[in-house]
Amino acid sequence: MRPFLRTCCYFVLLFLGGFPPARPGAFVPRPSAESSTAPQALTLMCLSAHPDDEDGTTLAYYSKLRGVKTYSLFFTRGEGGQNEIGSELYEDLGTIRTNETLEAAKILGSEVYFLGFPDFGFSKSARETFSKWGGKDSVLSRLVYYIRALKPDVIITNHDTVTTKPNRQHGNHQAAGITAYEAFEKAADPRYHSEQLSGEVTVWKVKKLFFRAFRGDSTQPGHPAVVSIDGSARDSSGETIEDLALEALRKHRSQGMEKLVLSSIPDFFRRHRYILIRSDRDYPFDPHDLFSGIEPSPKMRPVLPKPVGEIPEFSVRVSPQYVPQGRPAHLVVTIINRTGKALDGSLTVLSGASVVLTRRYITTDRTSDTVSIAGSTLNRIPDSMLVLKATASGDGRMYSSEFTVHRSSVAARFSPQAFVGLVKTYDDTHEETLRSFGIRYRLLDSARIATEDLDSFSVILLDLRAYEYRHDAALHNKRLLEYVRSGGNIVCFYHKTGDWNGKNYSPYPIFLTNERVTQEDAPVRELLPRHLLLTLPNNISPDDWNDWIQERSIYLPAQDTDKTSPRYDRLLAMSDEGEEQPPTSLLWCRYGNGSYAYVSLALYRQLRILQEGAVKLFANLISQPRH
Ligand SMILES: [Zn+2]
Repeated sequence: MRPFLRTCCYFVLLFLGGFPPARPGAFVPRPSAESSTAPQALTLMCLSAHPDDEDGTTLAYYSKLRGVKTYSLFFTRGEGGQNEIGSELYEDLGTIRTNETLEAAKILGSEVYFLGFPDFGFSKSARETFSKWGGKDSVLSRLVYYIRALKPDVIITNHDTVTTKPNRQHGNHQAAGITAYEAFEKAADPRYHSEQLSGEVTVWKVKKLFFRAFRGDSTQPGHPAVVSIDGSARDSSGETIEDLALEALRKHRSQGMEKLVLSSIPDFFRRHRYILIRSDRDYPFDPHDLFSGIEPSPKMRPVLPKPVGEIPEFSVRVSPQYVPQGRPAHLVVTIINRTGKALDGSLTVLSGASVVLTRRYITTDRTSDTVSIAGSTLNRIPDSMLVLKATASGDGRMYSSEFTVHRSSVAARFSPQAFVGLVKTYDDTHEETLRSFGIRYRLLDSARIATEDLDSFSVILLDLRAYEYRHDAALHNKRLLEYVRSGGNIVCFYHKTGDWNGKNYSPYPIFLTNERVTQEDAPVRELLPRHLLLTLPNNISPDDWNDWIQERSIYLPAQDTDKTSPRYDRLLAMSDEGEEQPPTSLLWCRYGNGSYAYVSLALYRQLRILQEGAVKLFANLISQPRH
């Protein structure tokens, strides 16, 4: 059973990150000439910052039991988050989440639209979010456009503008709440972005705007009356609305929701209570109906382009996307063929206009291959890019897709004695980095962790969230710690609080918090500049902290020495502007004859793009000698 709070996007506990940078102005909705027929139905719109933020229970209640037309609008596609089911990030993760959202919406009976703002990473403030989304008016006007087109009678959102610390929501959530509040008025104001008004896109008066009430204090005297939605009501098939909504929520697999069960969802979250925030006039109050007093009215709507999940019929993906110059390249190529037919295909690796190599395949569902290109071949290629182009034909049709791999020069030294045991989880980055730089390593599967003589490894890497995803590592943790005591080195990468706290995995206590440093350019201070991790074999200099992406660190250990042992050296201090985060992003201690490092730096995101400083630090971590 998975504790709910750990995975749910409504809370600051969940990290959601993002890349690439904002693309303001990318939005031009293009309604088709026809307009939809205008049924006399009530209309509900749910606003969410990210996939999985929607209130499935309320959407399903109104669409399944009350015949209300329901829309679910998302500000982003959630591409900045962590992927709990695979190695895809950024755009590819956005595609996965788009599909998950569409699958969930099918169950809920709602129609989905994405406003198209980038998910750029966990954000602590609405101000930062608005600035990365092209300015507040670009956000507000885009939402207003959708309100004027889709004409909701009632708008609901889980995001508010009023919650304060410590429960204050993700900056993207705050921005969504603020925008919802202001759009209520602006959609009805003919002077606001009047260029939007044409055809079926008309000024529109929303009747009521509700914010979800999560906390008990929202119901205290003086607060507006609260409307509660009955999740225990049953649809025509006899299933409860709450079960339907859970089934939908579980579609968000890349957010770890698949294993969710009702009993793991806290009570306050299973209550669906709403506070009226704005209305166009007074309506009679009904404690169980958001629509009380609203009469259905005819609505003419333009037909807006709907998201289709954006899965191409034929595509090629290559990993890693960045390879070091001067080394052989080992590329895992996956050709995905969703046409349902076997195709006659080929893969060509191009550098500029010259062909480096060509391979032929019969592609069916999914064809994977490893393409290795010798260093001597690559050294003759001046171009810093390799283009891998897949083409295929069948049934008289041609398909084509390409992927660019970047070659970058990285001046990092690795110990030639390094021999790494890798306890791998869902992400490929650490393994690919080892392979790219020609470091000797071996994957530690269950049998090896249980029985192999670990002493041959100079370092054992525990990959992202290893103790959550590799129960064999948790089971044999005694052996791992014994390996350290007898002279080995463990490097443990980040975990989430629930994966770790109370389980005593580390030799001395480490207590994880939800603190993070989200500003990827936050100044970094080396507290122990002579420390071996910052000097051997690579000297980490101030420049090495430039050009990081998305964030510095996540789920930082507590600084308090009652919680995180003083035996750990605290190597680095960094904080978001105007805040103070614990200096615990890199911890290191001696244990017996060996050493134990805990890394909550978001190193893997930097290693994927071969950011030089991150590669140097990774090199230092895995170059520690056995004692
Ligand atoms: Zn969210």
